Amino acid sequence: MSVYLDYNASAPIDMRVLDKMVDVYKNVYGNADSRTHQYGENAREVVETARKQVASLLGIKSDEVFFTSGATESNNIAIQGLVEYAEKSGKKHIVTTSIEHKAVLETVRHLEDKGFMVDYVSPDSSGRVDAKAVLEKVTEHTVLVSVMHVNNETGIIQPVLEIGKELADREVLFHIDATQSCGKLVDEIRELDYNMLSFSAHKFGGPQGVGVLVLRKKSFKLPPVKAIQFGGQQEHGIRPGTVPVALIAGCGLACEIAEHEYKKNDEIAKNIKSEVLRIMNDSGMKYRINGSQDHCVNTTLNVCLDGVSSEALMISSKQYCGVSNGSACTSKSYSPSYVLVAMGIPKEQIESSIRISWGHDVCKEDICENVENLLNVAKQIGL
Ligand code: PMP
Repeated sequence: MSVYLDYNASAPIDMRVLDKMVDVYKNVYGNADSRTHQYGENAREVVETARKQVASLLGIKSDEVFFTSGATESNNIAIQGLVEYAEKSGKKHIVTTSIEHKAVLETVRHLEDKGFMVDYVSPDSSGRVDAKAVLEKVTEHTVLVSVMHVNNETGIIQPVLEIGKELADREVLFHIDATQSCGKLVDEIRELDYNMLSFSAHKFGGPQGVGVLVLRKKSFKLPPVKAIQFGGQQEHGIRPGTVPVALIAGCGLACEIAEHEYKKNDEIAKNIKSEVLRIMNDSGMKYRINGSQDHCVNTTLNVCLDGVSSEALMISSKQYCGVSNGSACTSKSYSPSYVLVAMGIPKEQIESSIRISWGHDVCKEDICENVENLLNVAKQIGL
């Protein structure tokens, strides 16, 4: 049977999370913002329990957690929500990286059209941006620095710890897109200094369609983020609209499970990575790993198989593995991965690169068997 190895696009839901959601759908059908009856109060209790679970995983206070429909929306609120503040304060400069997810890149490009200046810092071939290069771009006109924690295509961990420490005492807001690290790099996230942080629940066992924007308080005050859509006071007006109680319950439980199990899960993922690398070495195929493994998560491998078209390989090995050659959000139209381009990787090498991503719940034997099969196909179609 084919094995799913595209966890960075979306991971399977944890069955305990699904059970919890079904229970909420069946039994808690009130609107969490209804104040006139017990049904609303019951729904509110479910939402507030989830908020505590998120806060506990991240090591923050629960009134700093705002539920959204996912990281795309969280990133949009974090960035577009600052427009009014930027205009009032005359700070219309943003620093980000050229390897952010489109949910950040397209949002800051939209602000460029509205007169903002944006600096995009690129990584070197290691896949990591240089913290100093980011900090050097910050001026007195900078309103926001936005850097992802872990890149979704390469798995490379970015120096957000260093950047956050340097920015902590400065008059500039720091946003981290932690979509690929939340629930995985649990200790690291707790150590980070930031004003805003985004993630989606579906990357670590939660349901699709729900995520979080964290807004850290400084001297009891939230960052100057305003809602970008209107129609209600839910989530303190930051994200209007009826809160999806069952999805939020699922997000909360995924966080609680991650908090208890991340160490064990990381060991399993590490083990899977070394097995995959062993199989690749034993296959005799020439391969190159994209991005330095000194700063890579244990759940991702972006690898170039010399002389093998990744498009051809993915089609011819569909019966064995579901892998990808870029972000699912850009995969409808084939163009070379902008992340690998930014790393200075030559075009032929990019065209031969695939991303394999997994989680603790993949059966190791299934991975081994199917990655071996994939490599056999690669040998047949290679130059
Ligand atoms: N940021 C990163 C780093 C991601 O990997 C993703 C999902 N691929 C997103 C943001 C957007 O998440 P969602 O599609 O769940 O809104």
